[in-house]
Amino acid sequence: MSDTKLAAAPEQSLLPTYARYPITLVKGEGSWLWDDKGNKYLDFMSGIAVTNLGHAPQKVKEALMKQLDELWHVSNLFRIPNQEEAAQLITANSCGDAVFFCNSGAEANEAAIKLARRYQQKVQNNGRFEIITFAQSFHGRTLATLTATGQEKVKEGFAPLPEGFKYIPYNDIDALKAAISDQTAAVMLEMIQAEGGILPADQAFVQDLVKLCEENGILLIVDEIQTGMGRTGKLFAYEHYGIEPDIFTLAKGLGSGFPVGAAVAKEQLREAFGPGSHGSTFGGTPIATAAVKATIEQMVGEQLPERAAEMGAYLIDELKNGLAGNTFVKEVRGQGLIVGIECIEPVAPILAAAQEQGLLVISAGPNVIRLLPNLLVTKEEIDQAVGTLKQLLTNAVKA
Ligand SMILES: *Cc1c(COP(=O)(O)O)cnc(C)c1O
Repeated sequence: MSDTKLAAAPEQSLLPTYARYPITLVKGEGSWLWDDKGNKYLDFMSGIAVTNLGHAPQKVKEALMKQLDELWHVSNLFRIPNQEEAAQLITANSCGDAVFFCNSGAEANEAAIKLARRYQQKVQNNGRFEIITFAQSFHGRTLATLTATGQEKVKEGFAPLPEGFKYIPYNDIDALKAAISDQTAAVMLEMIQAEGGILPADQAFVQDLVKLCEENGILLIVDEIQTGMGRTGKLFAYEHYGIEPDIFTLAKGLGSGFPVGAAVAKEQLREAFGPGSHGSTFGGTPIATAAVKATIEQMVGEQLPERAAEMGAYLIDELKNGLAGNTFVKEVRGQGLIVGIECIEPVAPILAAAQEQGLLVISAGPNVIRLLPNLLVTKEEIDQAVGTLKQLLTNAVKA
């Protein structure tokens, strides 16, 4: 062992990809987290839309413990009953027909991009490869998904990037018409741009987009990694628009904190991914898919998307009332329990002050405070969070 390396601060042994907060969380239960000094926090970020059932949810925990006792991992060269049953739960509760499991959001989008290209090139035999995405979008950190992302800052220093991506302004149907060509394989869309600042897609834009895609043989990929799993008041956000994407992607809340992702496809895409065309060693292990099964069973069984709609409406109402007339605040917007408070200045100091008062929230872009409580959050917890934010944002006006 190297003594010099052991003598250095332990965080020095990590590549510094995150600017971390000065808090070490050691325990979680429901909407609450505790740090190593015994301080208690109300969690309104949920590990960035991951712990949608709260921390350490009992039924998912029991399913995981049971599976840990039986079998952890086998190759995907064998049938995995949990994986098949988890996939059935997803398809029975969505427009999708077949699922590919992986381990993260970026991998789910990577699979979606590959599936769309492969369908066009191997099933339709038309050689199409181009994926159209949107300004301010976020789709992940692998080379293909950071290229799909419509933000320059995630691309700096990573050239050369894969070819075949085109970006257009969000909610601009004329830009989409102009961008479509005989090379267009798919459009990749977030129903609410989350990292981009809690920006919803317009109803009319989405209806026109779907029609354009259908008329031109273009696949629609919807990235539900942040908006899915009940977050917006429906199990999947595309349901608000009455549309059926050809492919949609999941991760974040899918395993309640156990890492797992999925690309979900409609029937006609099935034959594009034959044996050997794509894969992942850890994709859909018995453990990961035990978490998925228990998560969806609870979410659907307890009608948690409906609860998210109700609690989200309450949260947005309380924020709008509490912040009415506050000149530091530009707009409160959101759907279900993904809510943004857009301010006139950067919100980093507000996030830090909230942490000191025991409330955890994050930003979405520099000027938007993003609230992502779990779907079982109570009115009392919402009242407490709104009270803290109201006080901090009132102080921000005077400053
Ligand atoms: C978080 C996120 C991703 C990336 O997921 P990872 O699990 O971090 O790879 C992709 N798209 C959206 C919309 C996200 O919110």
